[in-house]
Formats: sequence, C-alpha cells, structure tokens
Amino acid sequence: MPDIAEYIPIVGQSTIDELYILAGNLKGKMIQNINSTAVGGGVAEILSRMIPLLRQFGVDAHWDVIKGNERFFEITKKMHNALHGARATLTDDDFEFFLQVNRQNAAELERYGDVVFVHDPQPIGLIERKEELGRKWVWRCHIDFTHPDPQVIQFLEAYINQYDSAVFSAPAFSRKLNIPQALISPSIDPLSDKNKDLPPELIDSILERYNLDRTRPIVTQISRFDYLKDPVGVIEVYKMVKKNVDCQLVLAGGGATDDPEGMQVLEEVKAAAAEDPDVHILFLPPSSDIEINALQRASTVVLQKSLREGFGLTVAEALWKERPVIASAVGGIPLQIAHKYSGILTYSKEGTAHFLKQLLNEPKYAARLGANGREHIRNNYLITRHIRDYLLLFISLFHEGDIIYLN
Ligand code: UDP
Repeated sequence: MPDIAEYIPIVGQSTIDELYILAGNLKGKMIQNINSTAVGGGVAEILSRMIPLLRQFGVDAHWDVIKGNERFFEITKKMHNALHGARATLTDDDFEFFLQVNRQNAAELERYGDVVFVHDPQPIGLIERKEELGRKWVWRCHIDFTHPDPQVIQFLEAYINQYDSAVFSAPAFSRKLNIPQALISPSIDPLSDKNKDLPPELIDSILERYNLDRTRPIVTQISRFDYLKDPVGVIEVYKMVKKNVDCQLVLAGGGATDDPEGMQVLEEVKAAAAEDPDVHILFLPPSSDIEINALQRASTVVLQKSLREGFGLTVAEALWKERPVIASAVGGIPLQIAHKYSGILTYSKEGTAHFLKQLLNEPKYAARLGANGREHIRNNYLITRHIRDYLLLFISLFHEGDIIYLN
C-alpha cells in the first residue's frame, strides 16, 4: 500500500491535510465495513484500497465478509437482478432463507464497530441486532435502484429504514425513505496496481502473453461475465464495426464469489464469438490488477456497454488512463462522462457501433476525449474525495441535529 505522501503530487497537500483533520475527529471510534465478497466487483475493489488508507490516516477501520452458501448467493443474485429491473422470481421461502443466513452471520460476527457500515443487500438483515447492540448503522447501496422490482424493494425497505442513514452512488438511485440519505460516488485509487503508471515494456509483455497485436486497434470491455454488462451485445457491436474498420476485441473479466451466473454467461459469450481469432475472451483470475491495467492502457477505445450499472468503476479506470470511453448512459456512468467532452454516451448497439467507428477513424478526437476524461476523474472520482465524504458522514452520525454539509 502506498504511503499517504505519495498522493500529494496527484491531489495536492491541502486535500491530504484536510483528511488528517477529519480523521482526528473519529478518534476512538471503530468503523466496521461488512459486505459479501472479498474479491471481484466494485465493492471489494474499493474496500481493499479504502481500509488500509483510512488506517494510515489513523481511523480504526475494519472489513468483515459475511458467509453464505450456494443457495444464499443464488437468492441474492436474483435480488440484485430484480433491483436492476429484471422480473423477480423469489418465493417466501427464499426470503426466509435469506434472513436465516443473515441471522447466522449476525450471531457469528466477532465484533461490531461503533459504526457498522453495511454494503449492499446481501448483509442488510444484520440490522436486526441494532436494538440489542446500539451503535450507528449505515447502509451503503452500490447498485442501480432506478427500476427496482416492487416485491424485492418492499422487502428491503423494511430493513433499510431501520438504519441511521443510507448512502447511494448517484442522485437517480435515492428513494423516499424514513432515514437521512447521502449521495456519495465511488472512486478509484490512482496508486493501486489497477491504476498506477506501468512501464511500456511491461504493457508490451502482457499484451504479447494474450496474443494481442499492438499494430492494430484494440477495443476492450473489462467486466465480470454478467448479463447486465451485455458482453454478447459488445460482440454484436464489434461485428458491425469490423465490416468497415479493422480491430481486435478484448472481453476480459473474471467472476465474483457472490455471483453464481458467471460461467453460464461466459459460455454464451464464447458461442457468440464463434472462434473469430480477433475476439479475445480472457477469463481472469482475481489477482489480475496489473493485467487489467495493461489492457486498459493498451486499448484504442474502451467500451462499457452495460444495460444497468451501479457506478461503473471500469469507466473511471479507463478515463484515468486517458482512454476514449464509449459507455451506456446508465447508472453512474453519466456522472463520469459528459457526452462528446469526456467520452461518449450511447443508448443502443447501433449508436455504440457508430461512435466506435468514428473514434477508431479519428484518433485526435479520441485522444481529446481521453485527456478531458482524466481531468474529470482527478477532480471528482479519486479515493481522497471518497474518503473525505465518508469521514464527514461518520462524523455527522455522532452529531445528530447539527448541520453538516457533505459537498
Ligand atoms: N474487475 C476485476 N477483475 C475482473 C473484472 C472486473 O478486477 O475480472 C474490476 C474492475 O477493474 C473494476 C471492478 O472490478 O474495478 C468492477 O467494478 P464496476 O463498478 O465496473 O462493476 P461491478 O462489477 O461492481 O458491477
């Protein structure tokens, strides 16, 4: 983990000074994060960087992961899809099983922080212990909540409303709740293996390992193999473009331990690629940060054709590397991309194909989008801004009734 001082050239001394002052206000308070996977996906990505940095600032921060079996994660994946607008197929038994697993985890957890910071729906039922334990409880929602299935959201809201506060990633996801809400966007760590600068020789060797030809354009989407990331749609876009412009397509990603659908999606993607030698499907193991970094840096254009998205960290990662990004206008992506200024927002396969051809043909325009994108990420979506927002939120929990301005 880098030393805090290494962030100063990127974000400035005053940003770091402010974080020390804010962290000082949480002396003696334990901040406990709880989610459902240690690897894979955006939440684990952020926590793995956030916890060590908070500790360097002197905050007593911890991270615990709840345990679940196959049935539990099948249920939570269905819930996740239903919150993203798919029709729910959850039975009363499923909801009961979900609660049982939460209760078992609640009983087995070895500690409870002064702030219990619960991420996403999987561990939401831990709140049942609030009455007995006290503490401050915050529910952090990382997912797209714009078209939730009524049955699932009704079930969850009964739990959300027991928390002291809820945090959403983008204004569009906030809901009418009985508790205070904060809007805090996620972030990337510019010094992580995923995002730090890499020597050109290392990028070359990684690309060679994956048999990618650096003399021809490379179009990439990095994502878990998930229907909501629309990898098959990406292949269709590639096929439309390839008729006119030569390029290679990289679909790279792994699974997450709390996502049981990955293998099925991967098989469908392989079938759609139909052994085209210019389509590279890379199933990556969890510790592939340097490889992902290199793939993003070597890409001519980065795509994120999600059908639904929480925030879309992969967009921030690519923009930070000055890559031109074409992404669907869903979830938190429009916060990151101002259309035709810091990237391209699209609404269909045809639109994505149209802009992909344009960016492959106009490298100067593409480079300008990437450069603007990097500055936008520097100003808004780096981990230091995220830590500031969280520290202010935690402090506010111990000052109920006072006015706290988060932005
Ligand atoms: N990621 C990864 N390995 C993979 C696929 C994705 O490390 O095989 C990372 C990716 O670089 C990003 C995060 O996981 O940091 C995905 O976050 P995002 O918000 O884009 O989507 P989510 O997976 O949370 O829906």
